[in-house]
Parts: sequence; C-alpha cells; structure tokens
Amino acid sequence: MTADPKLNDEPARIAALHRYEVLDTPAEAPFDKITNLVRAVLGVPISAVSLIDSDRQWFKSHPGIDAEETTRDIAFCDHTIRSRNPLIVADASLDDRFKGNPLVMGDPNIGSYAGVPLETPDGYNIGSLCAIDTRPRHFDPAQIDVLKRLAALVVDQLELRRIAERDYLTGALTRRAFVAELDRAIALHKRHERPAALVLIDIDHFKAVNDSHGHPAGDRAICALVDCVSGMKRPSDVFGRIGGEEFGLLLPETSQSDAFQAAERYREAVVELIVANGEPFGLTASFGVAGLMDADSELWFERADGALYDAKRSGRNRVCVAKPELDRTTA
Ligand code: GH3
Ligand code: MG
Ligand code: MG
Repeated sequence: MTADPKLNDEPARIAALHRYEVLDTPAEAPFDKITNLVRAVLGVPISAVSLIDSDRQWFKSHPGIDAEETTRDIAFCDHTIRSRNPLIVADASLDDRFKGNPLVMGDPNIGSYAGVPLETPDGYNIGSLCAIDTRPRHFDPAQIDVLKRLAALVVDQLELRRIAERDYLTGALTRRAFVAELDRAIALHKRHERPAALVLIDIDHFKAVNDSHGHPAGDRAICALVDCVSGMKRPSDVFGRIGGEEFGLLLPETSQSDAFQAAERYREAVVELIVANGEPFGLTASFGVAGLMDADSELWFERADGALYDAKRSGRNRVCVAKPELDRTTA
C-alpha cells in the first residue's frame, strides 16, 4: 500500500472513471491516433488505452489486441494504476507478478510492457496507456517520456469528450451526444426490428418568460424542466438538451402511440412545475412525437419537429404525433 490516499480510495477511483461515461462506447479516432502513435514511436506491435473498472479492464483503443476487455485479475494495467510512476516490465516471463499470466502464456503473448497511469485532474488513476511487445525488450527513458506525454493527451481527450457531451447549464446530454444516441438506437432497433420513439419538447412562449422574469429565472425554469423529466424517465430513456429551450427524449421499445401517452404525462408534469423568482410562475411546453421508421436521425428529427410545429400551431401546451400516413411503426 502506498501513502497516497487517492491511490487507495477504490470507490472514489471508480466514481472518477464512471464520470467519463466512456465504458462500452464505440472506438473513437482521437484515442486510436494516440495508440497508433505509441506503436510507431516506441516500435511495438500493441498499444492500448486500458480503463480499470471494478472487475475488468476495458479497452477504449486496442490496436494489436483482439479482445475488447479482460478480467481485472490478469491485467498488467491494474498494477500500473497503483503508482504515480510508469510500470516497466522488460521481460514478463522473468517477473514473479506476471510469469504465469494467461496474457503472457497465450494470446496476445506479452513479452514486455510499459504502462503510464491515466491520472485524472483530481488525482485518480483510472487506467493506463500502455505499449506491449511480444518479446522481451528494453524501453529507453526518451520513449517512456513520450508515453507519459501521450498518456496526458488521453486524459485531455477524455475531459474534452465529457465537456462535449454534457450541457453546462443542466447536465443533460448535448445535441451532439443525443443525436449519437439516436443513431445508435436506429442501428439497434432496425437490426432487431424493435420500436422506438422520439419526443421533442419546446417550452412555450419562453421569450416572454425571460422578458417578464429575467434571464436567470429563465435558466432556473430550464433546469426545473430538466430535473422534472430526468426524475420521471425510465433509466433506458435518453434525454438531451438540443437547443436553448428545446429538448429531446428517446424512448426505446416504445411505439408511437405509447410515446404519445408518455408525452401526455410529461406535459401534465410541466404544467405542475412552479418556478419561483420572487413571484412564482408556471410553464407549459409543446410536444412532438415520432415513432422510428427506416430513417436516419435527421429524418426522424424532422418528423418529430413537424409534429411539434403542429402542437405549437394548434395552441401550445399539447402533444401531437407525426402524420399517421407517414408512419409505419405505429401500433
Ligand atoms: P414558442 O412558444 O413558439 O416556442 O415561443 P418561444 O418564445 O419559446 O420561442 P422562441 O424560439 O422565439 O424563443 C426562445 C427563447 O429562449 C429565446 C431565447 O432567448 C431563450 N433562451 C434560449 N436559451 C436560453 C437559456 O439558456 N436561458 C434562458 N434564460 N433563455 C434561453
Ligand atoms: Mg424553441
Ligand atoms: Mg419555445
């Protein structure tokens, strides 16, 4: 055990990792660029961004390794995260910690290893950036220095990714992250022929709210609506802020008609919200619902937006669904 308390606080370390919401996400080019740079600069066949979860190591990037994850007990990187310094293993077959390890005895046949901990800005080691060779070898200090700098870039990239995905005011998903979720839902639901529905929400007469109660009160109203929807939605539903006072709710496994019923409940809940600013004021919102068709996310959005427009035009504080003649998934 080391004297550094943050290296021994496993629950806080796991919480720090989970805040990035990166586990089990698809490959992303910035991380692959870094691992491929490690391979080129250090002259190794394998590099990985390994994140150490409670009982597994999961690879965000892993050129040269087929597996997406391994159990934690055999992970070299689980040793790396116990220190602030790089872990260098010149010959794994001679190292008591690793010589019987299945990753040494079999695929990917680790012969040597150099790993640098991925230290978050608040001091938790969530994983490592590592270079792996299939034979014993020496890593020189200049190469380890490059690995350290690239490990810092991995953490920067994780931070940027988090900023890009979460809206600063409300903590809801940003439009970009929400659309990425729609694309995932389209792929998943089309493959398994499952329904899904998109609900667009727009606060009514929000300009007037700002004008009469002030912009800070408007901000509080936006946060109140986000808290309300976040508190009511199912864990599998995805909620995002897609514009100033516009929001999107993705309902997996839900037909357009069931989504209409759900949207009605949200509409009523918004009416019940009371936002205070000296004097309390009430909010209403309009809703547009569209079931998933064989569409890309842009077309799906357009159909829900058309329904939202109908809700606005027909008086606001109401739910409209996409035109039935356009929709083939409605149950
Ligand atoms: P409608 O019922 O047709 O939707 O009317 P509206 O006034 O809500 O629509 P409009 O699109 O004209 O105005 C949206 C307003 O939302 C204008 C903009 O200043 C305000 N807004 C956008 N983002 C924010 C924000 O983050 N905070 C606050 N307080 N206001 C915002
Ligand atoms: Mg709007
Ligand atoms: Mg509005």
